[in-house]
Amino acid sequence: MTDAPQTPITQDVMTIPRKQPGGKPNIVGLTREALRQALIDMGTPEKQARMRVNQVWQWIYHWGVRDFSQMTNLARDYRGKLTETFRIDLPEMVSKQVSADGTRKYLMRIAGGHEVETVYIPEADRGTLCISSQVGCTLTCSFCHTGTQRLVRNLSADEIVGQIMVARDDLGEWPVPGAPKREERLLSNIVLMGMGEPLYNFDNVRDAMKIAMDGEGISLSRRRITLSTSGVVPEIARCAEEIGCLLAVSFHATTDEVRDRLVPINKRWNIETLLTALRDYPRLSNSERITFEYVMLKDVNDSDADARRLVKLISGIPAKINLIPFNEWPGAPYERSDWSRIESFADIVHKAGYASPIRTPRGEDIMAACGQLKSATERERKSRARIAAEIAAESGLQ
Ligand code: SAH
Ligand code: SF4
Repeated sequence: MTDAPQTPITQDVMTIPRKQPGGKPNIVGLTREALRQALIDMGTPEKQARMRVNQVWQWIYHWGVRDFSQMTNLARDYRGKLTETFRIDLPEMVSKQVSADGTRKYLMRIAGGHEVETVYIPEADRGTLCISSQVGCTLTCSFCHTGTQRLVRNLSADEIVGQIMVARDDLGEWPVPGAPKREERLLSNIVLMGMGEPLYNFDNVRDAMKIAMDGEGISLSRRRITLSTSGVVPEIARCAEEIGCLLAVSFHATTDEVRDRLVPINKRWNIETLLTALRDYPRLSNSERITFEYVMLKDVNDSDADARRLVKLISGIPAKINLIPFNEWPGAPYERSDWSRIESFADIVHKAGYASPIRTPRGEDIMAACGQLKSATERERKSRARIAAEIAAESGLQ
C-alpha cells in the first residue's frame, strides 16, 4: 500500500482527450448478455458468441486492456471489426488529490463535461472505493453537501464501473501477464456512498455492480460491495434480489419530525415504513447485517434519549450502527457533535448489543469525507442562506 504523504497534494493528471464517440457504442458497461447480442449483430456466428464474450470480457475487465489491437487471442480481422464497431471508453481523470491520511479523491469527467468524485480510502485490512451513482442528487438532505447540488443526470453503467477501472489504473492494480497473482488487493471493497442516490438509478447501478462482481474480471465479492440508500423503500428489496450486495441505510434520526428535516425523503416513506421494508429485506441474516448510518449532529439527533429510541426502533433487525461524525462543509447549517457525546451515544447502542463503530473521518483536508463531495463545476447551487432558511422554515430552528 502506498505510504501516506505528510501534506495534501493536488495533482493535475494528464489525460488523453476523451474520444469522440462518433456514434460507436462503448463496449465498457455492457452486460454479458448485451455484449453477446452486440457481437452477434456485428457478424459473430451465434455458436462462437459466448466464447468471444469471454475473451473480450477478460481483456477489458481482467487485464485492463484499452485497445482492441492488443487482444491477441482474437484474429486480426476480428480485432479490426471490433475497433470499427465499438469504443473502449472510461471517465477521464481530471485531477487527483491525496490527503495526508492517504485518502485519494479523484475528479472524473464524463460525457457532457460533467464531473463526479470518487474517493479511495486505504485501511490496514482493506482499500475501499467510494463511488458516485449520479451527478448531483435530487434529494436534499440538509446536512449533505451533494444535496445542495441539483441533479444533473444519472450515471450510465460504464461511468459507474469506469470509476473502479480508473481507480485501478491509478493504483497500478491490473494484473501483469506472467507475474504471480497478488492475493492482497489495494481496491478490495466498494461503497456506493459517493454522489447521488443509487436506488434512483437502479438499473445502471445493478449492471455496473454485476460487472464488478463477475469472476472473470474485476471479481469483487458481493459481500464487499455496500449500497447506501437514503430510504427509497420500493427499491430496497431489489437490491438483495438483483444485486445481492450489502445494504446501508441513512437513518440519522429517531423521530419522523427530525428525520423529515434531515432526510426529506422521510416525508414520502417514514421511519415505520422504512423499518418494515428492512425487516422484510430478503437476504437479512446475522452475517449480512444492515448498516444503519447515523450522522452525529450537535444538539439535533445526538442525545442519550435518541440512542435509546434508536435501539428500540431497530430491535429484531440484524444490524450494525455506523456513527458518522458530521463532516463540515462551507456553509453547512450544522455542527459535529462533541466527541464525548458521540462516545456516550455509541455506548448505549453497544450495550444494547449492536456494533457501533464511530467512523473516522477520512480525507477531510481535501473535502473527500462523507457528504463533502460536490464537483466544482456545477454552478447551480443553493446558497447557505437558502439552506438555512429552508431548515428554519421547516423546523422552527434559529
Ligand atoms: N445517497 C445515498 C448515498 C450517498 S451519501 C445515501 O444518502 O445513503 C453516503 C452517506 O454519507 C450517507 O449516510 C449520508 O447520509 C452521509 N453523509 C452525507 N453528508 C454527510 C456529512 N456532511 N457528514 C457526514 N455524513 C454525511
Ligand atoms: Fe442525496 Fe444521499 Fe446526500 Fe441525501 S445524503 S442528498 S440522498 S447524496
